[in-house]
Amino acid sequence: MAKILCVLYPDPEVGYPPEYARDDIPTIASYANGQKAPVTDDIGFRPGELVGCVSGELGLRPYLESLGHELIVTSDKDGPNSEFERHLPDAEIVISQPFWPAYLTPDRIARAKKLKLAITAGIGSDHVDLAAATKNNITVAEVTGSNSISVAEHVVMMVLSLVRNYLPSHEYARNGGWNIADCVSRSYDVEGMKFGTIAAGRIGLAVLRRLKPFGLDLHYTDPHRLAPEIEKELGLTYHPEPHSLIQTMDIVNLQMPLYPSTEHFFNDELFSQMKRGAYLVNTARGKLVDRDAVVRALESGQLAGYAGDVWYPQPAPADHPWRTMPWNGMTPHISGTSLSAQARYAAGTLEILKWFFEKKPIPEVYFIAHEGKLAGAGAHAYKLT
Ligand code: NAD
Repeated sequence: MAKILCVLYPDPEVGYPPEYARDDIPTIASYANGQKAPVTDDIGFRPGELVGCVSGELGLRPYLESLGHELIVTSDKDGPNSEFERHLPDAEIVISQPFWPAYLTPDRIARAKKLKLAITAGIGSDHVDLAAATKNNITVAEVTGSNSISVAEHVVMMVLSLVRNYLPSHEYARNGGWNIADCVSRSYDVEGMKFGTIAAGRIGLAVLRRLKPFGLDLHYTDPHRLAPEIEKELGLTYHPEPHSLIQTMDIVNLQMPLYPSTEHFFNDELFSQMKRGAYLVNTARGKLVDRDAVVRALESGQLAGYAGDVWYPQPAPADHPWRTMPWNGMTPHISGTSLSAQARYAAGTLEILKWFFEKKPIPEVYFIAHEGKLAGAGAHAYKLT
């Protein structure tokens, strides 16, 4: 029987289960590219329930225990004395969410002698050292597509809130103020602005589609060029490399995966090449940008605003400068774990477990690494260096 070690974020401080605002969520049967969403027939929860936290257990316990497997669920993931470290040497499967990542470093992978499968409940598997995983023949799988629209909606929200100065104006209203001039002296319309996304994969493309009706001039860069009909439909300008895009955009969206050569992609040098007063939105990964360079760019006015939900490390320490830097619209890492997204990635995690235990093939699109190399979605999006 297998030990499955599942790391989830802590329960709500108000207690579990929380009081839900709504009674149901829409059923999404398939995604924009035709890929079928995970089946939710026999999941161990009602779609719309909070399953991403420890007590929610992604609804996995009934299935795993019916087969006699041992399921350990914990949020205690960091440090040598953590629950995670204690169970890792016996675990055959590790499940982790990017929102509360259980970092699978080369050292930890070396100690995880029985580990065969690392599942990302969500999207983005950079918390797993992919070079070490491939070297040790560990399969890395994620629930591709499960929260792409959740994140795309968040990006659109952040673009609008930054450019229109929504958050500071809301604070004015909350605090009893009414100085309209103070609120609007940093408020603009997005209409007519140049918007560019660095990476136009599932999320980047969904953002472009959603911004099209706002009348923006849309640009993108990505090593994989989109189909000509999509470029035509959305009126896209393609940049074969990121620099020409970065230099001319009013708003930049960062959506590429984190791997060794994209770490600290945005640094002082790149910020200095942007238009003064540009906005940057990053829901991809915190480490894609140099932490202190963002602060400097906001303080000098080179950037007019920065918003995102991804940090490094996670959870972010209480004194992380992104919490307090000027003109930021940061949230904790939440965009991909709305209750709607959880229903899909929890169901997808169950599907992956079933395929694994029933020795059925896992669909290629769910692989990041398999049989000692990058595979599936991972081979498309990541590099090992
Ligand atoms: P995807 O695999 O569909 O697309 C990734 C795209 O990045 C691909 O088109 C690839 O060609 C492109 N790319 C790779 N290297 C690049 C580079 N150097 N420059 C420009 N483009 C490059 O992935 P996705 O579903 O769109 O997700 C993208 C990323 O968003 C994930 O890797 C993850 O880090 C992040 N994400 C965050 C959340 C969240 O909750 N904030 C949720 C899901 C995904």
